[in-house]
Amino acid sequence: MRTLLITIVALALGACATAPDPQAPKVKITPLGSHDGEFCPFDRALVFEDPDGTRILYDAGRTVRGPEDPRLGKIDAVLLSHVHGDHLGDLIQPSANAGACQKPDMSVKTTPNSNSVNIVLAKQAPLVVGGEMQGFFQAKVKSLGGDPNKLVRLVRQGAQTTFGKVMVAGVPAVHSNGLQPAFMAPEQARLFEGSGLTAYVGDAGGFVLRFSNGLTVYLSGDTGITAEQDLVVRGHYKANLVVMNIGGFPFTTGPTEAAYVVNDLVRPSSVIPSHANEPATVGGKLSPTSRTAAFQKAAKMPVHVPLSGRTMEFDGSGRCTAGC
Ligand SMILES: [Zn+2]
Repeated sequence: MRTLLITIVALALGACATAPDPQAPKVKITPLGSHDGEFCPFDRALVFEDPDGTRILYDAGRTVRGPEDPRLGKIDAVLLSHVHGDHLGDLIQPSANAGACQKPDMSVKTTPNSNSVNIVLAKQAPLVVGGEMQGFFQAKVKSLGGDPNKLVRLVRQGAQTTFGKVMVAGVPAVHSNGLQPAFMAPEQARLFEGSGLTAYVGDAGGFVLRFSNGLTVYLSGDTGITAEQDLVVRGHYKANLVVMNIGGFPFTTGPTEAAYVVNDLVRPSSVIPSHANEPATVGGKLSPTSRTAAFQKAAKMPVHVPLSGRTMEFDGSGRCTAGC
């Protein structure tokens, strides 16, 4: 009888350990794309909100409509994987949902400041960069009246910092990171324009974020397949949610390569595709012929399509519990 009782208690405890706890703290993830409820070509930006209230913006790019975008709210840090215009932000929309999902209206220039730096200055939230980007952004922030020491934080690959209860680590990406002349001061831009050259600002990177509920997110940035996705992102950080670039030719991993990364290298509980460079959805539904659909089919774990403005909630194990 006593053995039976112990067995019943053990089974009950076992069940408790695996069943999701609805009261457990969640991390909120909100995509800030070009068109509400869709996943469109330039969509990269995500806002992460820790249960402690810390809000982190990742790769503002072209789809955050400047610092006044009401979707931003309070922002405590702005992460930037690399300086290419579609991540740093060379253009933005004149208004919400301008243009069509397949061809967003990006007619407002944000050069030479950049959309990211405009947001950093308005929110007084540090820009987090790796490589050799710190010096460039400190000079830019200073030239625009901001405090370069407060508003630019260097986190190279292997290093980490914290915002509130959120740990932010720099991890490798295999990509390029050349600064376009459009972001330079006129006297420097003149030297590069017409030559086809960009300015050296060090390595492109990705990030790992660890939230206070245990959720550990790998943000790939733009990258190819790299062994560090196995050795560093899974081996050391044990990421359980991946935000993965699936755009493919000619820039980064496409659906097949990205599926290999998540299935064989990082092996998270779930994945959010990013940087699809296509109108992946129509009316909020995934187009069956899209590369996002191909990726979803090839990945062995749940793939949650980031619909602009729709907040998803994740528990500490990387499972989506609401909004997916
Ligand atoms: Zn890039």
